[in-house]
Amino acid sequence: MRDLRLEIDARSVGDQMLKFAEELYPICRSITGDGIRETLRRIGERIPLEVCEVPSGTQVLDWTVPLEWNIRDAYIEDPHGQRVIDFRDHSLHVVSYSAPVDATMSLSELKEHVHTLPDKPDVIPYRTSYYNKTWGFSMQDERLHGLPDGAYTVRIDSSLEPGNLTYAECYLAGETDDEVLISCHCCHPSIANDNLSGIALATQLADHLRATSLRYSYRFLFIPGTIGSITWLALNGEALGRIKAGLVVTCVGDRGDPTYKRSRTGNALVDRAAVHVLRHSGRPHRVLDFSPFGYDERQYCSPGFNLPVGSLMRTPNGEYPEYHTSADDLEFISADALADSLSVYLRTLDVLENDNAYVNLSPMGEPQLGKRGLYPPTGGQGAGPELMARLWVLNLSDGDHGLLDIAERADMPFDEIRTAAKALADGGLLAPRTS
Ligand code: ZN
Repeated sequence: MRDLRLEIDARSVGDQMLKFAEELYPICRSITGDGIRETLRRIGERIPLEVCEVPSGTQVLDWTVPLEWNIRDAYIEDPHGQRVIDFRDHSLHVVSYSAPVDATMSLSELKEHVHTLPDKPDVIPYRTSYYNKTWGFSMQDERLHGLPDGAYTVRIDSSLEPGNLTYAECYLAGETDDEVLISCHCCHPSIANDNLSGIALATQLADHLRATSLRYSYRFLFIPGTIGSITWLALNGEALGRIKAGLVVTCVGDRGDPTYKRSRTGNALVDRAAVHVLRHSGRPHRVLDFSPFGYDERQYCSPGFNLPVGSLMRTPNGEYPEYHTSADDLEFISADALADSLSVYLRTLDVLENDNAYVNLSPMGEPQLGKRGLYPPTGGQGAGPELMARLWVLNLSDGDHGLLDIAERADMPFDEIRTAAKALADGGLLAPRTS
């Protein structure tokens, strides 16, 4: 039995994850450039990380690695020389991948390049233009309406040049080469739930697991969304056959209930493990079928790969009003929610790690449990959960059923089934399946 140390100190690990999110929050990340590099460097201070640089122009599946984008400064000055927008105040103020600009223009010309959300006038929207060369600013709609007419100075000190796409892997070797893939995007600028929560959780999870004796090997990917997973898939064909399960980590810090989104096949081992854990948690949760939208599960579950990768999150993308705005900030996530999400991850992985199959060594009739101290001392009271778990394990341990199969069929928590298997194995009634 593998011990994943499920009893975490929620307050301590929750605080650690929140602090890491706070540390990363000001960095202006994008799908390439020094922001993501700096983010990866800080992850690498916590866990062993191999950083990979893939040159602009590299053909990856149907895509091409884009030019590298970097930004040093950006602002808009009003006719009186006052800065009305300053990139240094918030990284969302500049449309990600904006081309450089240095110009003076009228308010009406400027407005063609300013993005706001009229129905949420007090927040800054998150906007990107990765694959169309343009420039733009984002700001609060209520501030835009307060701007006087006149000549505005507009400057974006950015560069779009041949460089690299940067991503990183943390590989933890287990007893087998079979792999569990844990993937998170790290390309959003100052956005807490839809980015930093996933980075913080994946980092914490890797740190937790590397002190553990593991059955599976784990590959953590820290990648820019879409182009990063496409690049990784294009360059790592030989690794794909080893992936037995995978989870995309995203939106794990908000106060909503846990949500699991199934892989494309819908009934992969990871789907069954996550759904089982949530179902037996006794608390509100949701299970969603796969859809070809969302995060990098779109790529892992594209038909040519069809990897067994689901996504374990809290409130899904687009389902909370703060999504992709400046309101998805550090206040929107909590240490408690991060710790709770980490616990759901560990419980799901614990099922994968311990889903062994056994063989009943006394399958002809029910073995006499009483003489082995495995039967409750007083008969006639009906079967309690401890006895039922033992009877189910004995009955289904025919070599074809693993412990998760048994837990599902018995409709009992995996933990109880695993505990029963251990007691029966200790009592000489059960042996691990050898093949
Ligand atoms: Zn997003």
